[in-house]
Amino acid sequence: MTVQQQSPRQLEQPYQYRRVELVEPDWTRIPGWRDVTAAEWESVQWQRAHCVKNIRQLRAVFGDLIEERFYADLERDQAERATMSMLVPPQMVNTMVPHGVPDTDSLYADPVRRYMLPVFSDRRIDWPSHPRATRDSLHEHDMWVAEGLTHRYPTKVLAELLPTCPQYCGHCTRMDLVGNSTPVIDKLKFNLKPVDRVEAMLSYLRSNSGVRDVVVSGGDVANMPWPRLEAFIDSLLDIENIRDIRLATKALMGLPQHWLQDEVRAGMERLNSKSVITGASIAIHTHVNHANSITPLVAKATRAMLDTGVRDVRNQGVLMGGVNDDAHTLLDLCFTLLDGAQIMPYYFYMCDMIPFSEHWRVSVARAQELQHGIMGYLPGFATPRIVCDVPFVGKRWVHQLESYDREHGVSYWTKNYRTSIERTDPDALDRTYEYYDPIYTLPVAGQAWWKQHAGDHLAAAEVAAKASRDAAESQKSLSV
Ligand code: SF4
Repeated sequence: MTVQQQSPRQLEQPYQYRRVELVEPDWTRIPGWRDVTAAEWESVQWQRAHCVKNIRQLRAVFGDLIEERFYADLERDQAERATMSMLVPPQMVNTMVPHGVPDTDSLYADPVRRYMLPVFSDRRIDWPSHPRATRDSLHEHDMWVAEGLTHRYPTKVLAELLPTCPQYCGHCTRMDLVGNSTPVIDKLKFNLKPVDRVEAMLSYLRSNSGVRDVVVSGGDVANMPWPRLEAFIDSLLDIENIRDIRLATKALMGLPQHWLQDEVRAGMERLNSKSVITGASIAIHTHVNHANSITPLVAKATRAMLDTGVRDVRNQGVLMGGVNDDAHTLLDLCFTLLDGAQIMPYYFYMCDMIPFSEHWRVSVARAQELQHGIMGYLPGFATPRIVCDVPFVGKRWVHQLESYDREHGVSYWTKNYRTSIERTDPDALDRTYEYYDPIYTLPVAGQAWWKQHAGDHLAAAEVAAKASRDAAESQKSLSV
């Protein structure tokens, strides 16, 4: 008897790529939009007029589909935890439970709902906030060189033109400034008139030839009246040292109808024609956290922008527990961005240390695992870096840390440049800077340490609220 040679069994790859055709979820499955026509849905005016801004409007949209317990949960969150007020365009609501008729459980479980309509029971009750959380966790205001103009990196600035967006995300890192005040967060206000703020920014950029890259943000540039946004970018193109201009707009996904307007397309074409003459580049940076958000309308708006001559459309997502914190979900998102909408996966930021964000945050160790998990599937140019935005440092790739105390969840980072507030500090480049893992992810000994050292004078929630009030007060005193 001969022994048959068996061929080795083929093992599956950890992740199986498959091309997915985009489909616009059928909005008429939702009771409040049963009679909405395609023309209305594609109108930016209709979308803006029907944004969900409160629980009453959400009830009207979902009708009887959702049980009262969900609304009560949402209401409690709005009163006790929310750092952002509610504002969700129909386009985004429609990507929640996109493949069926939503009910209470599927809405609770939905990844887009989890960060656009956070509820009280989503959040942690042991440590709702990290004791080191602050409302301006990246200290951008500390680095303002003109109102709204953050000069953190040597050659790059961030221009916050306005404090509003067409949609408000629960985890917004600029929650101290962006959006309306909530019961727990009294928002800061710009002091200068918009026209003076813009002029002060341009004046700084004209007199600082070392700056070559401007991120034009807010808020979201889609909320800036087009003629004013075009005038600002046009002025940037006149500054010889400005070589890269990036427009930050989550609305490319949340309200693609905005970017499909004739006025906007024609204006982008004018700007891109000028950029060809000056040799500068204009790119769009958007913010998509889950593949479900990419619909044919998002792809159409991206195509429209690329057709105007925009150099690239790139995605900067945020890594969040319960939304996208596994390698398959991240890869699904990246392939959908790339294949479905020609959007370049670029970064995933770890969720910043703002108040009440602990349930969204993951540890640096987990972020490193995820970076490892997504390597090798996407083209190298489209493999996003997972980055930690370290306070007083800036973006660092998650493997770049100097040392890591896993018991206490403290990672230490260094930097190789001075921010605008350290230009005369000889020690800035030798110091280490700290970032903190969520306490619930730590071993028992680490959790006990934090309990002893952080919880003895004020509850974490009170610390966060106090930080919020202090920051508001100091901003007011600056403006006197
Ligand atoms: S779109 Fe950006 S700036 Fe606006 S709320 Fe969302 S994360 Fe914040």
